[in-house]
Amino acid sequence: MSKKQTLTLFLLVFFLGLISACRLGSPKRPNVILIVVDTLRADHLSSYGYFRKTTPFIDELSRDSVIFKNAISSAPWTTPSLASLFASRYPAALGYEGEEPIELDESFVTLAEVFKHNRYITKGIVSHDFISSKLKFDQGFDSYNQSNARGYGYVSSPSVTNLAVSFLNNHKKEKFFLFLHYFDPHYDFILHKEFDYYPDYHGSLQSGEYLDSLLTKAPTMSADDLKFLNAVYDSEISLTDKHIGRFLKELKRLGLYDSALIIFTSDHGEEFAERGDYWIGHTKKLYQEQIHVPLIIKLPRNKKKKVINEYVGLVDLMPTIVSHIGLKTPAGYICIGQRIDLKGNAEPESRAIISDTRRWAKLQSVIWKNWKLIYDQQKDTKELYDLKNDPLEAQNLPPKNPQRLAEIQDILKQWQEQIVLIKSEYKITTKRPDFSDEEKRRLRSLGYIK
Ligand SMILES: [Zn+2]
Repeated sequence: MSKKQTLTLFLLVFFLGLISACRLGSPKRPNVILIVVDTLRADHLSSYGYFRKTTPFIDELSRDSVIFKNAISSAPWTTPSLASLFASRYPAALGYEGEEPIELDESFVTLAEVFKHNRYITKGIVSHDFISSKLKFDQGFDSYNQSNARGYGYVSSPSVTNLAVSFLNNHKKEKFFLFLHYFDPHYDFILHKEFDYYPDYHGSLQSGEYLDSLLTKAPTMSADDLKFLNAVYDSEISLTDKHIGRFLKELKRLGLYDSALIIFTSDHGEEFAERGDYWIGHTKKLYQEQIHVPLIIKLPRNKKKKVINEYVGLVDLMPTIVSHIGLKTPAGYICIGQRIDLKGNAEPESRAIISDTRRWAKLQSVIWKNWKLIYDQQKDTKELYDLKNDPLEAQNLPPKNPQRLAEIQDILKQWQEQIVLIKSEYKITTKRPDFSDEEKRRLRSLGYIK
């Protein structure tokens, strides 16, 4: 063997060795599926103790999962809530300070971008203009299907699942991150015959009633009317659950379920005239019916149910998911959320969970050790609730608990200072999207714009 041949062989062995070392060393990462159901309050899922069996397929998923009993969204409306989930920043630090949705600034690193950077195929299937590519929510996605954003009167769950099933079949041999956004529990409230939970109702409310009409009727709605409205909302939830079940069944049929990391959650809840002003909807209040959301995480190769009772925020999801599968966010990008240990038995560390809304109100809330402060910036009023003994937030307690109030106010002040600091470090543009006439029509039909 000549010197040249020896050198060639050496180089060949050296490179083959390198290649096999890379292969051996590269961890087997799971497919990751994030399912978000818009406007799904936690207390209407049977897996969260609801009296009605609304969600048998999600319940089945929860039996293989870590179920968070107290997950809180960062905002009670879609755009800032999901921006906060995707970028692990509170909405105010992302620039959401006005009433209108803004573009997700490209300086932030999103969950999809982390997967893309790690050579995952990334796919989004969404059903709302408030998280469309126009708002730059498609950052990091190879493909982003928003054909199901169609506004009032459209039932989107069957199509979201059809698109997802087709994606699974086309990419079953690849590593993927799939984001599914279902929309049907959001207003309009359409009754589906196969899930008719109140067939004996004979009042004046209709399936698919227009929002203006609902809001006009809200102050005079009888207990029976509200029972019907909740039954229609549940009908939408059950229909969505059925199509999520269809997706999970296909995942199992293809042999992809066991090894996948599946995250199921919602962006916010919905109010059904629980409060003194008899209002229906979300965005302008921070009571639990608007910010308490389901959060269920199925770990790869896990068949054990685990319950976490400690309060966590959707802002925690990005660092939790990324670290659980051994990925990293780019150097220099700091996630504000906490990394939750999904494998261990310990509850996450107790800490303050913040929510914030600037749409049709200016409110901030802090949940800390079962206490909750709601601060109204415009009226300069404070409400304090003991969530353990008063989960419906019926008893406002500030005068009786001056010390608790002072402590929790101090937490809010520190958070406000933190926001100022983060904003000074990240120069962000707050660009409002230029919606087309068709997009405006769809948003108007859902009550978002006049
Ligand atoms: Zn929403």
